[in-house]
Formats: sequence, C-alpha cells, structure tokens
Amino acid sequence: MNKVTVIGGGLAGVEACYQLAKRGVTVDLYEMRPVKTTPAHKTGDFAELVCSNSLKSADVNTAQGALKREMKLLDSLIIRAAENTSVPAGGALAVDREKFSRYIEDELNKYDNINVIREERTEITDYTIIATGPLSSDGISKALASVTGGGYLNFFDAVAPIVTGESIDREKSFFAGRYGKGGEDYLNCPMNREEYYDFVDNLVNADKVILRDFEKKDVFNACMPVEVMAGKGADTLRFGPLRPVGLTDPATGRRPFAAVQLRKEDAEGRLYNLVGFQTNLKFGEQQRVFSMIPALRNAEFVRYGVMHRNTFLDAPKALGHGFELKNKPTVFVAGQLSGVEGYAESAMSGLIAGINMYRRLVGKEITDPPEETLIGGLMKYVITENKDFQPMHVGFPLTPELEEKIRDKQKRKEAYSLRAEKAFSDFAKNYI
Ligand SMILES: Cc1cc2nc3c(=O)[nH]c(=O)nc-3n(C[C@H](O)[C@H](O)[C@H](O)COP(=O)(O)OP(=O)(O)OC[C@H]3O[C@@H](n4cnc5c(N)ncnc54)[C@H](O)[C@@H]3O)c2cc1C
Repeated sequence: MNKVTVIGGGLAGVEACYQLAKRGVTVDLYEMRPVKTTPAHKTGDFAELVCSNSLKSADVNTAQGALKREMKLLDSLIIRAAENTSVPAGGALAVDREKFSRYIEDELNKYDNINVIREERTEITDYTIIATGPLSSDGISKALASVTGGGYLNFFDAVAPIVTGESIDREKSFFAGRYGKGGEDYLNCPMNREEYYDFVDNLVNADKVILRDFEKKDVFNACMPVEVMAGKGADTLRFGPLRPVGLTDPATGRRPFAAVQLRKEDAEGRLYNLVGFQTNLKFGEQQRVFSMIPALRNAEFVRYGVMHRNTFLDAPKALGHGFELKNKPTVFVAGQLSGVEGYAESAMSGLIAGINMYRRLVGKEITDPPEETLIGGLMKYVITENKDFQPMHVGFPLTPELEEKIRDKQKRKEAYSLRAEKAFSDFAKNYI
C-alpha cells in the first residue's frame, strides 16, 4: 500500500498531504470547496484562514514561537508558507492570506503524486487522514462518529477560561468543596458585596464577540454564557455558579458574599478553569473583567473562554498515540478535529499525522515527541483521560514543571523554551 487519502484541504490537510508526497507516497487530497462550502470559508483556496490572518507569536520564548521552531525542524509547509508571505505584525507571524494560500497551492502543484479531488468525501477507508476541521460536513461527521466506535464526536465549544495555578493569589483564595465535599478539588475565590456588584456590572457591560448566524442556534443549545446569566439580575450569579453556600472563608471565618470556584484542569494543579464561566466576551475584556476577582488580579490566562461551533473528537476516548484512531489504526485524525485548537496547532497535528501515516506504511514505530516539547506536551494532554475534554492550545504549563524553581517570569519561559528545544532536536534526529 503506497497510497493515502487525505480528506480536507485546510491547514492540517495540506500539511499532511505535503509530508506524505515528499516521502514518495501517492495522495488523493479531497477538498469539497468551492463545490460545497462551509459556513465560515469564503473561497476555494487551500488552507484558507477563516478569521484572523495571524499565526500568533514568533518569539521562541513563548509557547507559540517554540511550537513554530519544532514545526520548522520537521519542514512544516504551513510555517514556511507563512514566513514567505508574512506582513509586519510586531512579534507575531501574520500573513497576506491570498499569497499564503497561493504559496501552498504552488508547492503542492510541484508533486505529480498528489491528486486533488474537489468533492465532498463521506467514506472512511483504510489509510485515510481525516482533516475536515471544525466545520466538517455532516456526511463525514457521521462517518467519523461511527468509526470511532462510541460516537465520540462533539459539535460545540463552550469553554471557560483557564489560568495558571501559580498566578492565583493564594492569600485571597482557599481550597474547599461545598459542605466539606470534594476536599481540595476546588479553589474558591471569595468576593465581598462591593467587589461582587462591581464585577457583575462590568461583566454585563463588557464587549462581546458577535456570533455568526450559524452559531446562534447552537449557542441556544449550549450552556448559557456567564454574562447572559449575569444580565438576568444582579444576584443571579450569587444564586448560581458563584453561590457561597456551604463555604467558609478561613480568612474571615464566615460565608463569603459570593465565590468563584476554580477546578483543577490537570492532576498537578498547574492549570485551573473558572467553573461556569463559558463566555462570549472579547479576549481583552475577559482579562479585564475576570481580573476583578480579587484572587485573579494577576492571573495568567492560558486560554480564554470561547463559544462557537466546533466539531471535535472526544480525543482521550477516541485517539491513541500519534493522532491515530484507537479503533482503526490505519486512520489518523488531524487538525482542530483531533482536539487541538488554533491555526498553528492544527497544522502541527497534520504534520505529525502525515509523518506517522508514512511511518505506518513503512512499518516504523509510532512514538510521540517527549512531553518536554511543545508538540509532545499538547499531544499528551489530548489523549489523557478527561471527563470534560475541550480542544487545547499549546502552552508551557502542558509540559512538566521545571526541576529548578525560577521566580522571574521571563527567565522561566526561556528555561522552558530551552529545555523544549534540546528535547525536540534529539527526538527529531530519529523521527524524520
Ligand atoms: C469561525 C472560526 C474562526 C476561527 N478563527 C481562528 C483564528 O482567528 N485563529 C486561530 O488560531 N484559529 C481560529 N479558528 C480555529 C482553527 O484554528 C481553524 O478553524 C483552522 O482552520 C483549523 O484547521 P483545520 O485544518 O483543522 O480545518 P480547516 O482549515 O477548516 O480545514 C478543513 C477543510 O476540510 C474541508 N472539508 C470539510 N468536510 C469535508 C468533506 N466531507 N470532504 C472534503 N472536504 C471537506 C473544508 O472545506 C476545509 O477546507 C477558528 C475556527 C472557526 C470555526
């Protein structure tokens, strides 16, 4: 078998296709646009960027920059295309979106072993990479749900923000479950009367993201955004997710007026999510308003809350190592569909799935990059058991803690980045 089907000509699909073609594998690349489109795409171009034209930071001392360095070491087509079509954007890697897509198309055209088929594909056969994205067509979504064996497919993201554990003020928060249940599972952030009403007022009046028509009907079925709940009455949150009943603040010996509960996102407690805070606020507004919670005054957000249509696998249940389907190891899933979030992350999973499909074809072992690397850290997160799994960005907190405690934030990032660089270059020597 030396032929692979890649479904989806988005960021992940073209990257997977390129990785296979340059290794001599024949690829049938199915892309349904422009014959059939999605509610967000506007063109028939490969790797169309549906919203922002930025692939985020290029600084290697950020998680996004370090991710790009790892992808470049594996000859990522998406990162090369972005660098060759970049536009000035401070420290970010932003692109001229038309030139970006054209660069990719020209590159794929160089390969006689790529057959582009402009048609919707709804069948999943052996040796297929599925990269149909957050707006996968209904036909392929049904086929994928069935092939996972358990229908492990979700259709909506209603994600609360996540902050780093070390950035939460422990003097202004305390561990406790309501009525003594749940022990250390919840970190409570109390607010007094004045702080609470001020917070609610800012929350209700903050700038929101305007949803597209196709998302509005899904929002209706998803959990209610925290700002909408707050708008129903000044005390609604105090009787809802911020209810203080069953809690005693050890600092005062009394029940707080209101309390935001944070729940551990990982076993070590390096990440916490704000329980019940699914939101449509703009990212800057989330930073401003949620930092009004006294314990979160200096909180570092590793992801902001979002609510949008998003088809993705319940990856911890459906995926094995290397983005392969547990239930059908000749099939790989890549892109946003595989439980990663963001342009660069989606391309990364296409890159890894493409290389791994090749390795499967030639009988090589499939091993994930070490967890100290940005790619390895995210891949481990994606397949680690999680009863409320939501897609995730790369981040240094997804890699193991540094052995040495470094207080200075910038120096700490540099240390994470340096460790990732060493680990990835060792890994890449035997991987390519
Ligand atoms: C509205 C919206 C806005 C977003 N904005 C951003 C942002 O600003 N920044 C960011 O980092 N991330 C953003 N994302 C998240 C994510 O990074 C992008 O969606 C990214 O494009 C995902 O890459 P992908 O390759 O997984 O999917 P896509 O790039 O969407 O590619 C999937 C491709 O598969 C095709 N396809 C679907 N079904 C079939 C089928 N059955 N047969 C053949 N072809 C099919 C589609 O036409 C599409 O071309 C956004 C997501 C959405 C939904």
